[in-house]
Amino acid sequence: MDTDCIFCKIAAGDLPAKKVYEDDQIMAFFDIHPKASVHLLVIPKKHIATLNDLNTTDSALISKLVLALPEIAKEQKLEGFRVVVNNGPGSGQIVYHLHFHILGGKQIPTF
Ligand code: AMP
Ligand code: ZN
Repeated sequence: MDTDCIFCKIAAGDLPAKKVYEDDQIMAFFDIHPKASVHLLVIPKKHIATLNDLNTTDSALISKLVLALPEIAKEQKLEGFRVVVNNGPGSGQIVYHLHFHILGGKQIPTF
């Protein structure tokens, strides 16, 4: 755990979040500033700053997280959804704890 990291604090239960899924390794909760009618964040509980910081020992964790995305979306009754990962400087990443945005609900702009 990174003691300065807000998502580590959420994962540890030290900061509140509107959780929709949690197990021993991952967690999903609503984004506090939604950019779509449904906007969730899915995180590994382990502190990993960016995709660049993953290594092969994280394979099972990341596989589990990606496999959970459609399940979490289905729970929110999303037919389709967009997954966004901002990764590193210049990408818009603000929180340096790896997170997958799930965006869906009302028509979201295409790009
Ligand atoms: P990013 O720009 O990809 O780093 O996204 C960080 C996201 O975290 C933003 O969409 C924020 O609105 C969201 N966020 C920041 N703090 C919290 C929090 N305490 N609870 C839920 N979402 C948060
Ligand atoms: Zn963290």
